[in-house]
Amino acid sequence: MSNLMNTYSQLPVTFAKGEGVWLWDEAGKRYLDALAGVAVCGLGHCHPKLVAALCKQVGTLIHTSNLYHIGKQEQLASRLAALSGMDNAFFCNSGAEANEAAIKLARLYGHGRSIDLPTIIVMEKSFHGRTMATLTASGNRKVQAGFEPLLTGFARVPYNDLEAVAQVGVHNKNVVAILVEPYQGEGGVNVPQANYLQGLRHLCDQNGWLLMLDEVQCGIGRSGKWFAFQHSGIMPDVITLAKGLGSGVAIGACLAKGTAAEVFKPGNHASTFGGNPLACTAALTTLEVIGEDDLLRNAMEVGDFMRSMFKARLAGLPDVRQIRGQGLMIGIELSKPCGDLVKEALKRGLLINVTSDKVVRLLPPLVMQRSEAEQVVDTLSMLIKEFLMA
Ligand SMILES: *Cc1c(COP(=O)(O)O)cnc(C)c1O
Repeated sequence: MSNLMNTYSQLPVTFAKGEGVWLWDEAGKRYLDALAGVAVCGLGHCHPKLVAALCKQVGTLIHTSNLYHIGKQEQLASRLAALSGMDNAFFCNSGAEANEAAIKLARLYGHGRSIDLPTIIVMEKSFHGRTMATLTASGNRKVQAGFEPLLTGFARVPYNDLEAVAQVGVHNKNVVAILVEPYQGEGGVNVPQANYLQGLRHLCDQNGWLLMLDEVQCGIGRSGKWFAFQHSGIMPDVITLAKGLGSGVAIGACLAKGTAAEVFKPGNHASTFGGNPLACTAALTTLEVIGEDDLLRNAMEVGDFMRSMFKARLAGLPDVRQIRGQGLMIGIELSKPCGDLVKEALKRGLLINVTSDKVVRLLPPLVMQRSEAEQVVDTLSMLIKEFLMA
């Protein structure tokens, strides 16, 4: 028995090293990684450019605190603003914290407009994190159960239902913002219907609400664009980021534009570690490599290739409900719970995930090549067929 708190049911493997899309366990067995540390290691494992930049920064300066100016933080904010079209950034250390910042920003925005009990519209099947505010915002009873009392100030509607959002607005005059994942991750790799984000933007404009997009999982190149909202042609007011941003060095960000960018004043929000020189070096280098190595195009092409290969291999199987996603965010929905597939894949040296009980989820490194993607599809298609026959 270990001395760890019993928060995870872990798979029976310990990894010792990684390179690109490959990991090795302590016995030297090799695994093809189609999960990338849950959408974190976009550059693959131990990308030489990242390793060099981090080693150099560790030997120069790791942390100083936000009591002082941090050059790398200002550079990173400027780079993220240029890529996203947003105005400014607040840095923290995780996805949950990025969403906490967004939730606090929305509440403060509401108070500024004399709304004393501000409400944020959130979605069914959403996931925003494990802190009290973000688990309240999440549309999953399993992450909430036992942690009551939950927070007030959230109204929940089904994902992909614009009419339901409009109805909340009609009945609740305290609404200040919508918080939504453009592509839902944990909830089953759910894809927005045509014009969904445009419709949300329109409702926000009509009502003076902030459109806040949780891009913690789908952002930073995963969808085949820098940010998933860039597939829709709209601009949000707030974006939250984390997973892929630092390639495994903890960093989260809350970006804001226009009125939303002016909400926080000194004293409203802070983080001790947030945006320190080491974390910002990881993020700056991650963004640099994604650009230089054309990883957006790679994510788009390899993702499309994998979905079409899966469709060719699995089409016609009545228990395969849908193959969906965008870029290197891939979901295969089956008609029955399929968590056992994860262990079977592990035995055959392939790392995958199952979410929402019935959805096989792949989040491969953005550097995955076609030949490696083919191996993923070959192994997984065979496993799914065997599983469905059994
Ligand atoms: C993972 C995730 C979070 C939470 O991120 P943490 O870093 O674990 O706090 C929030 N939102 C989405 C969409 C996520 O996928």
